[in-house]
Amino acid sequence: MKNCSLCGDLLRHRTQVVLPIVDENPLLFFMGEAPGASEDKAGVPFVGAAGKYHQRFIEALGNPPKVVCNVINCRPTILSETGRVINGKPTEQQIQNCSRWVDELIVTHMPSCKLMILYGLYPIQRFLPWTAPFKVSDYAGNFYTITHAGVTFEVFACYHPATLVYNYKYFAPKWKEIVLKLKEHLNDKIYKS
Ligand code: URA
Repeated sequence: MKNCSLCGDLLRHRTQVVLPIVDENPLLFFMGEAPGASEDKAGVPFVGAAGKYHQRFIEALGNPPKVVCNVINCRPTILSETGRVINGKPTEQQIQNCSRWVDELIVTHMPSCKLMILYGLYPIQRFLPWTAPFKVSDYAGNFYTITHAGVTFEVFACYHPATLVYNYKYFAPKWKEIVLKLKEHLNDKIYKS
């Protein structure tokens, strides 16, 4: 994955591939959207502004061992009107190109992970059936069972942690509900009678 050059257009402005975090014996699998400028520099997912809330979320869940990955592992960039390199949105082709790396992680870790958490629009659209008009809020807070890359596993649709960067006041109560719901669900799964 480190030397991947499938998305030729992304190579021009890429510092490096942002490699997933893989803890030993992971229990949760977090699926993000795409690296931003901070992640591109550090080579690690979720180290920027949204990363602060991603970290808090993991702590609220009791700091379980985890996998943290994105639907694309390089920063999607575009040129602004003034010629500056800025964050773009992952394209269908880029998501398709990266799926070989993402699916490999899924096949390795999802059979033993308890749950995959889908952060926001692109992960939800990538892994769940959906129809237009699409709203993350129609899915966030719900559990689904899916089969992907030959593995059947449970996913939880969630808001993206960046929602707390953009509109803390509106999203903080929604995240509180999500934490409560997930804690209860994970307790039931881990300590089943
Ligand atoms: N947002 C994401 O979805 N992924 C990252 O790695 C950073 C920000």
